[in-house]
Amino acid sequence: MADKKDALKQDLIAKGVKYALASYCDMHGVPKSKTVPIDHLDRMLSGSELCTGAALDGVPQDVSDEEVSPHPDPDSVIICPWRPEVAWFASDLYLEGKPFEPCSRNILKRVLARADSMGYRFNFGIEPEFFLLRDNERGGFDPIGPRDNLAKPAYDVRSTLDSLFLLEQIVDALNSVGYDVYSYDHEDGNGQFEIDFNYTDGLTMADRFVFFRLLLHEIAYQNGCFASFMPKPFSDRAGSGAHYNMSLADKKTGKNLFESSDDPRGCDLDALGYYFIGGVLKHLPALCAVISPTINSYKRLIKEGSMSGFTWAPVFACFGNNNRTNAVRVPLGGGRVELRAADISNNPYLGGALALAAGLEGIEQKLDPGAPHTENMYLKSDKQLAELGVSYLPRTLSDALDAFERDPLSREVFGELMFRTYLDFKRQEWEDYMNHVSDWEVNRYLKFY
Ligand code: GLU
Ligand code: MG
Repeated sequence: MADKKDALKQDLIAKGVKYALASYCDMHGVPKSKTVPIDHLDRMLSGSELCTGAALDGVPQDVSDEEVSPHPDPDSVIICPWRPEVAWFASDLYLEGKPFEPCSRNILKRVLARADSMGYRFNFGIEPEFFLLRDNERGGFDPIGPRDNLAKPAYDVRSTLDSLFLLEQIVDALNSVGYDVYSYDHEDGNGQFEIDFNYTDGLTMADRFVFFRLLLHEIAYQNGCFASFMPKPFSDRAGSGAHYNMSLADKKTGKNLFESSDDPRGCDLDALGYYFIGGVLKHLPALCAVISPTINSYKRLIKEGSMSGFTWAPVFACFGNNNRTNAVRVPLGGGRVELRAADISNNPYLGGALALAAGLEGIEQKLDPGAPHTENMYLKSDKQLAELGVSYLPRTLSDALDAFERDPLSREVFGELMFRTYLDFKRQEWEDYMNHVSDWEVNRYLKFY
């Protein structure tokens, strides 16, 4: 063990690394860390760096409590491509020598261990959408491409080429640290892009998603721009999803257990995959509180509100084939389940944990979701939806929190302390929002009556 740590240190020094970050996440999935000169890496790897959780959102500690310590996962190390003298480690929080129950990475690890005990490996791929913008002299912000002003900007080649100076640095950086980016595109909002990289195991994907946002912030900043991971920054442009692509594989052979070439429902999905969907749909209202975790998230989960027409964001708790009007779909080729309700602001450890736990429950209880919706769900009337037994997703963060609080799975997955902490924090966020009088209200009502 000591030899392994020393070998890692020597390797990093040989690559020019001078500092290491033992990075753990607050409740929002935002990385936090102390910085350790590389000579002290061995101490850091054994949990030497103490932090006071009370200073952070959702690390439930009192100021007087014993401090938590991040224990870096040596397998997660990434040398920051934009700052090669710094090595980043994803870390688990410990308290008094034991894993700290409310740490979001520990929460995901507990559910992964359950999947493992059932014989499964959780394969996970997240598709991040985001805006790349720069501040303008008028106090607002513009897309980074000067010609990025089309009413229908999706897949636009000219704006993509105008933005390539930054996209190319980002993609090269991601690939230099093993992300295997296979595609990127201009999305449906001016200034909005998506970068897709290969799926991997659940824990690595969650680490990668957290590091992805950090990398984008940093490289955009170096270029005088900024990346925004706000789910719906503009009312007339599409919002930013972070769709979860999920499947289970046999943990021994690696064989995808959701694939089927003989699916009578036409999605190339095995019965196990349908049960997984059944579990996700059952818990979807509660899940929304975690995978669409902000006030603003619910301004994305609407049918219309993008300049090109529909938003492609989910509105109803239903599933379908390769059909984007469902909250859960089975993309072409089958073998995986795409949960489209997740947005770019989510904490992937918490969201991944609850989504996986919901899917596993669906398998245990054989929850069959029925026939896939292949039609345009956006066009259904409320009456038709009721006849189909399809309900709306929560319309606000407050509604989602009610569902989260009611659902016993939330408490079971998060553990009592984090369950309470999450609810308290988010309920306060809702209160703060409700206490604010917005420009929209003033414009509408000030001189109206
Ligand atoms: N931007 C859409 C969303 O908010 C998704 C568009 C797409 O399907 O790529 O989920
Ligand atoms: Mg997209």
